[in-house]
Parts: sequence; structure tokens; C-alpha cells
Amino acid sequence: MPKGLFVMDGSKRSTHGNAYFTGFGKAKRIVFYDTLLERLTVAEIEAVLAHELGHFKHRDILVSFARLALLSLAVFWWLGVAAKAPWLSAALGLPQSDAVGLVVAMICLSPLEVILAPLGNWLSNRAESRADQYAASMTGGGDALSSALLKLSRDNASTLTPDPLYVLFRYSHPPVPVRIERLRRAAGD
Ligand SMILES: [Zn+2]
Repeated sequence: MPKGLFVMDGSKRSTHGNAYFTGFGKAKRIVFYDTLLERLTVAEIEAVLAHELGHFKHRDILVSFARLALLSLAVFWWLGVAAKAPWLSAALGLPQSDAVGLVVAMICLSPLEVILAPLGNWLSNRAESRADQYAASMTGGGDALSSALLKLSRDNASTLTPDPLYVLFRYSHPPVPVRIERLRRAAGD
């Protein structure tokens, strides 16, 4: 279980309300912004806490860290190989040198970001929905979490109706109405 529950002086930084789960092993912790504690009811705070515990239950932090580590390994492997490959610089009509090779290898990686961003967001959105369902099951339905999410999106001034394509490329969390709809569906109403 997480070792610590922390309150961060988020109000000194911005009016955004937030909470997050972080760390591994003995350093696991859940952090609440003080702004969030001020604005949410006790039931809503419990629901947000249960959502963060849902991430812990499903090992989301560990899995995303492992994914990032593997991706970094692949990127460094590619940079190592491609920077030394004479055909790559030659294909662009450039002289072969380690420096040129490295720049060209990095440029070749940018299309990969376009493919990986939606994939990463899809995985993250799935983890968020799972954590929402966990929170609903722990707090007797999704009502408290739904109202907490609405309050948070209001405080964060986030739009409730983002463009789906924009969501695919930019959103690591499903839009709030989608989360509330899923909670309702899971509760059967
Ligand atoms: Zn979450």
C-alpha cells in the first residue's frame, strides 16, 4: 500500500485542483493539492483517493515506467545504429559523420511520435477508466467521483466538449463527460 498521503500547496502555484499517485516500492505516495481538499466534499475526496488507489491496484505507474524505459532503450539503440550508418546520411545527400548521422537519426524518429502519441494516450485513457471503475466500486457507485470530476474540470477551466481528434493526440485522460458516462453505464443507469 502507499506509504504516504501528502498535501501539496498547489494554491501557491495555480488555482488548478489536482491529485496524483506516484513512486515505487516504499516510496509510493498519493499527493492531493490543498485546492482540491478545499473545494471537494468528504465523499468526493474519498472518491478521488479511491481513483488514485485504483492506479496502485492496477500497477499503472510501474507499467508506464517500464514502457518508458523500454521505449528509451529502443530510441538509444536506434540512435546508436543509425548515427553510424553511412546509407542514412547518403540518402539525404549529406556527408557521413557522427554528428550529421545523429541529427539525421533524430529527425527520422519524429514521425514515430505521431504514431506513438495516440497509442500512449489510448493506454493512459484505458488506465484512467479502470481507475474510475475501481473508485466507483469502492465508494458505492460513481456519483461522488462524477461530481468531483465536474468540479475539477470547472476549476481547471477545461472544455467539456473537446474535438475527438484533438483528444486522440493530446489527451492522456478521457474527457470528463466520457468518464461520467462510463461510470453511469457501469452502474447500470
Ligand atoms: Zn488517474
